[in-house]
Amino acid sequence: MSKCIGVLALQGAFREHVAALRALGVETREVRQLRDLSGTDAMVIPGGESTTMGKLLNELGIMQPLRERIDSGMPVFGTCAGLILLCREIVDSQQPRLGELDAVVRRNAFGRQVDSFEENLPVPVLGPEPFPAVFIRAPIIMNVGSGVEVLAHVTQDGDKRAVAVRQGNILAASFHPELTEDTRFHKYFLDMCQS
Ligand code: GLN
Repeated sequence: MSKCIGVLALQGAFREHVAALRALGVETREVRQLRDLSGTDAMVIPGGESTTMGKLLNELGIMQPLRERIDSGMPVFGTCAGLILLCREIVDSQQPRLGELDAVVRRNAFGRQVDSFEENLPVPVLGPEPFPAVFIRAPIIMNVGSGVEVLAHVTQDGDKRAVAVRQGNILAASFHPELTEDTRFHKYFLDMCQS
């Protein structure tokens, strides 16, 4: 059965995700309002500005229905701001969120002086080649619950911090696979959608 992947298209880098998925031959749908959710089998939440996206999700009445779909097992892939929206706890912030990922996240965790950077990141589930991870005002995961698998980490001030995680049907990365030519993260997500 062919799947339709929804890409939350309220704000941020959604076009790049749509392009990456289409390049892999997948049907996509831009989700701008509640009714766009029906008929989608999975969902991508892109990078952008998590406070704005969270506010819009509430205003458009998408937040709770999306939360329920994730609860009932719909695969979801959040990148950067999308990861933030998925997390249960956001350090020093009460901003609206889905809160489905058992993790504590810190926004803009690499400081102003390193606004964005690229790093060849080992991600063992994707194979031996490191992944070209583009970080843009990126969050970092401070803590994860026991049901969360860490797929990649960086070392910050001597501590290992997760930057890509999976919790069952939830995949999240603090960087932007959609901005690179490397399709392995999207393929990994599509595998999650098939199983
Ligand atoms: N700093 C942004 C936020 O907190 C995330 C940055 C991004 O998505 N590139 O929402």
